[in-house]
Amino acid sequence: MTQEINPYEMAVTQLVNVAKLIELDPNLLEVLKKPKRELIVHLPVRMDDGSIKVFTGYRVQHNDARGPFKGGIRYHPNVTLDEVRALAMWMTWKTAVMNLPYGGAKGGVACDPEKMSLSELERLTRRYTCAIREFIGPYIDIPAPDVNTNEQIMAWIVDTYSMMQRRNEPGVVTAKPIELQGSYGRTEATGFGVMVTARETIKKLNISKDKVTVAIQGFGNVGYWAAYFAHQWGYKIVAVSDSKGGIYNPEGLDPSKVLEHKKKTRSVINYPNAKNISNKELLELDVTVLVPAAIEEVITEKNADNIKAKIISEGANGPTTPEADKILYEKGTLVIPDILANAGGVTTSYLEWVQNLIRYYWTRDEVLSKLETRMVSAFEDVYRLSKEREVDMRTAAYIIAISRVAKAIELRGFWP
Ligand code: NAD
Repeated sequence: MTQEINPYEMAVTQLVNVAKLIELDPNLLEVLKKPKRELIVHLPVRMDDGSIKVFTGYRVQHNDARGPFKGGIRYHPNVTLDEVRALAMWMTWKTAVMNLPYGGAKGGVACDPEKMSLSELERLTRRYTCAIREFIGPYIDIPAPDVNTNEQIMAWIVDTYSMMQRRNEPGVVTAKPIELQGSYGRTEATGFGVMVTARETIKKLNISKDKVTVAIQGFGNVGYWAAYFAHQWGYKIVAVSDSKGGIYNPEGLDPSKVLEHKKKTRSVINYPNAKNISNKELLELDVTVLVPAAIEEVITEKNADNIKAKIISEGANGPTTPEADKILYEKGTLVIPDILANAGGVTTSYLEWVQNLIRYYWTRDEVLSKLETRMVSAFEDVYRLSKEREVDMRTAAYIIAISRVAKAIELRGFWP
């Protein structure tokens, strides 16, 4: 998220623009502009040297008309209230476009995890959980990991929350370790969803499977698993990259071998039988599918004209700027927006939460099959509406999401 733009103002502008398109009741628009609840907590934590440091944490709950709040927690030095507000609103749209029975929330603590020991992180996490305890819970608000938070942090939250509630509550967070009632399939879910939506678009464009080429920016969790499934389905991965640069082989790359190389050398670059390329070159390759799965704002008005991919499936959050969106739409590039393409993670979080509530656990194949059904159905809704209204897929996704949330608020009414 660039610091010059206020992310919350950006999120509100997006909402206002879509509200105009759907002639949203101005009263409902005012409700949706503001989060339902914003918590700011100051967290005194004992550091390893014996001193006490006070961290500031947030939990913003944007809307829960469609179900309990849902959204990650990030640990980052630049976390601000406005950033968390924007991310909370985007979560409301993401869960709504996927038709999950959830609303949207986000949390964050301004801290630098790279400079903290594991035990400092544990004390911070437990203190934060304690501070927001009344406002989270399996039927209230279910956090998950985000930037710099992980399974271990979720495990500490489960433990702290369960101790305070005096009962075991695995459903208070998702993306937990398997040993603590996490779900099979959660690790690969986002990359899988990214590729499922790309595959559905490939079908719509009548491109035959053996002609599909794929370039992936970012070979982390999302990028690797997107590559893994693309390779399994017979698509040719011609390029992948990480922060150090990219590699290109028109004959195709085997993702598991590239991963081995990355584990050994800490990067994908200098992979045998491939040419090193820059991230800029990767984005501009003539491929069927481009998957930006690294950072935000990599496709801008500066390079949109040079993008040759037919389909862009947004693994990362916010990789395409609004100016680039316009250029790509006019060129006929199909952009599968982040709130749909990378929603495999939150959808599997939903499946994990369901398993926690019913205390019955599915196999990896069962989870991925349920995920696939949901991804395909959400994709169909968005694709159909984009054709009907002659708008890009991002606008269509927002129309669906905002209409669903507005309808839920309207049906519930205002009380008292
Ligand atoms: P990750 O840290 O596992 O991987 C990120 C990858 O991007 C790494 O290979 C890194 O080297 C590379 N990278 C970093 N900076 C880069 C740069 N400037 N140019 C090229 N590559 C660069 O992260 P992840 O979990 O795979 O997440 C990737 C993106 O997907 C993020 O935007 C994240 O918000 C989004 N996302 C992730 C999930 C999820 O479930 N993991 C869900 C939704 C969205």
